[in-house]
Amino acid sequence: MDEWKRLIKETITNPEELAKVLEVDIEEIRRVHQKFPLRVNPYYLSLIQEKGDPIWKQVIPDVHEIVSDGFEDPLAEEEDSPVPNLVHRYPDRVLFYISYMCSTYCRFCTRKRKVGDPTSIGEDVVKMALEYIRQHTEVRDIIVSGGDPLMLTDGKIESILRELRAIEHVEIIRIGSRVPVTLPQRITPDLCDILKRYHPLYLNTHFNHPREITPESKKACEMLADAGIPLGNQTVLLKGVNDDAVVMKELVQKLLAIRVRPYYIYQADLVIGTEHFRTSVQKGLEIIGALRGHTSGLAVPHYVIDAPGGGGKIAIIPNPIISFDDNEIVLKNYEGNVYRYPSCPAEHTL
Ligand SMILES: *Cc1c(COP(=O)(O)O)cnc(C)c1O
Repeated sequence: MDEWKRLIKETITNPEELAKVLEVDIEEIRRVHQKFPLRVNPYYLSLIQEKGDPIWKQVIPDVHEIVSDGFEDPLAEEEDSPVPNLVHRYPDRVLFYISYMCSTYCRFCTRKRKVGDPTSIGEDVVKMALEYIRQHTEVRDIIVSGGDPLMLTDGKIESILRELRAIEHVEIIRIGSRVPVTLPQRITPDLCDILKRYHPLYLNTHFNHPREITPESKKACEMLADAGIPLGNQTVLLKGVNDDAVVMKELVQKLLAIRVRPYYIYQADLVIGTEHFRTSVQKGLEIIGALRGHTSGLAVPHYVIDAPGGGGKIAIIPNPIISFDDNEIVLKNYEGNVYRYPSCPAEHTL
């Protein structure tokens, strides 16, 4: 049996199994589990070093999940969904939900309302979404997401990619998958052979902490990169996990070293049951301030807030403009030094 299939088979999915391997309050875990599913595979579990560490916090149920406020669908994805499981929010690209399953369930998941629910997907639903894409010629970029699309079988992945590639106006396909982080063994030579037949294909993954960069995840990313797939990373800012400039800098630098380009840092969405992970926006700005100029520009992601209610991602940056008038712009560099850049003469005399 493939290593990844064995890891899935040995995945922990209930409080009783979890209590056998970790020191947890089983009653608390049971209460949380009544509301939200639990899944953690032996590989990701092995990265935990101690109770409450940054790996633990991401995947072990916490009683705060059932006492906190928030919304089922904070980004109002369902409102921008012309057919089930497809979100068409931006002019030229859509998000296509093709899998309800992940190898490990993140406690802070933005799609807690759907992920883990087998009824959130069906055969004809995929057909309807494909038909929508065929009819909408303005859609040139497809984000294949879920759940985790790479939890599907090779055959299923290939059939969806083939159908998307057959649509003339689809220029690029992007896969959103946490498998390189949570189940890197899933990135097999066979899978890479399939993926590379559907270029231009991009993959965005989701590392949140430098300790997730292991020999296994490094190998997975290198195999994907060798298959010609440009890799990006989307991190979520999480209290007690990565809300620290030193941790974040180590993460982005280590990502570049495994050929993954940091793409976004998300401010946490207002998802029900995830309030305890939220950090201040000030913290996020401070982290970006500690990266920009201080390390490779390639390592600096966009810091975004996905606007509650469906406004899409809005990038926020520490403001470098001290003043800006007809004569000049006065700017602060990464060290806080002040520089002046004069207007161009033509503009000035206008
Ligand atoms: C994030 C997102 C996209 C892709 O946005 P990019 O900024 O192009 O990466 C597309 N659709 C939806 C609904 C999204 O949430």
